[in-house]
Amino acid sequence: MRITLWGTRGSLAAAGPETVGYGGHTSCVEVRGRDGTFLVLDAGTGIRRLGATVGPEVARVDILLTHLHMDHIQGLGFFQPLYESEQEIHVWGPRSATLDLRARLARYLSPPLFPVRLRDLPCRLTLHDVPLEGFQIGGLKIVAAFICHPGPTVGYRITEGSTTVAYLPDHEPALGASNFPGAPDWTSGFDLADGVDLLIHDAQYSAAEYPEHIGWGHSAISHTVGFAAAAGVKRLVTFHHDPGHDDLTLDRLIEEARGAFELPFQLLAGVEGARFNLAGR
Ligand SMILES: [Zn+2]
Ligand SMILES: [Zn+2]
Repeated sequence: MRITLWGTRGSLAAAGPETVGYGGHTSCVEVRGRDGTFLVLDAGTGIRRLGATVGPEVARVDILLTHLHMDHIQGLGFFQPLYESEQEIHVWGPRSATLDLRARLARYLSPPLFPVRLRDLPCRLTLHDVPLEGFQIGGLKIVAAFICHPGPTVGYRITEGSTTVAYLPDHEPALGASNFPGAPDWTSGFDLADGVDLLIHDAQYSAAEYPEHIGWGHSAISHTVGFAAAAGVKRLVTFHHDPGHDDLTLDRLIEEARGAFELPFQLLAGVEGARFNLAGR
């Protein structure tokens, strides 16, 4: 698998000279299988630049949404392949007890919020409630599970052969856990991240900021590190950076995390444009 980060910011795009190092685009990650299987994880503003790289050689695109907060769907209408009549596109998202995925996406992809209606997009578009029992797209095996975040939200675990990546961009596993992460079996998202080669995980807050944001659905970087250690991951990529954190702040948070903990894994900062090649073991 080849993984490319097209947007690593959380909550709101944050363009400007102070964020140019980590990037300002919101959540979007490309996953390419060895056989060409093409997944897009979330449709934040980073998806626009990814769309410009999709040529006619791509037979099918699958967009896997973790949830429908704006920072994860705002780029969708700007994904150029949606306007190609021959392009096959599948959008997967968590089921909700109220409205189906089409109805919920159409709230944004319709006037007055957006000029084009979802039903008028020219591509060959199919929408799916993401199954929770595991499913296959091309050569990639996918498991989705609900995780702790406001509103229906899933994380994804994607496997190709012996190689696995997990993506939990919006996640507060420490919420309500008195001895986090002391009880892995009872920890939100644990099964998705268990033993993965690469974990891409929410790291929105500093430890000092977290107490003011309990229940907002995000992690302090210390929680992210604790979760990754409990899950026995090989590499951790911090993700969903707070829009108020400039490059200097993010550098400092990563350095503090590296210094404060005896890390049993490689800790990497989620920088827009970063690419990871996961070779089979
Ligand atoms: Zn988010
Ligand atoms: Zn969210």
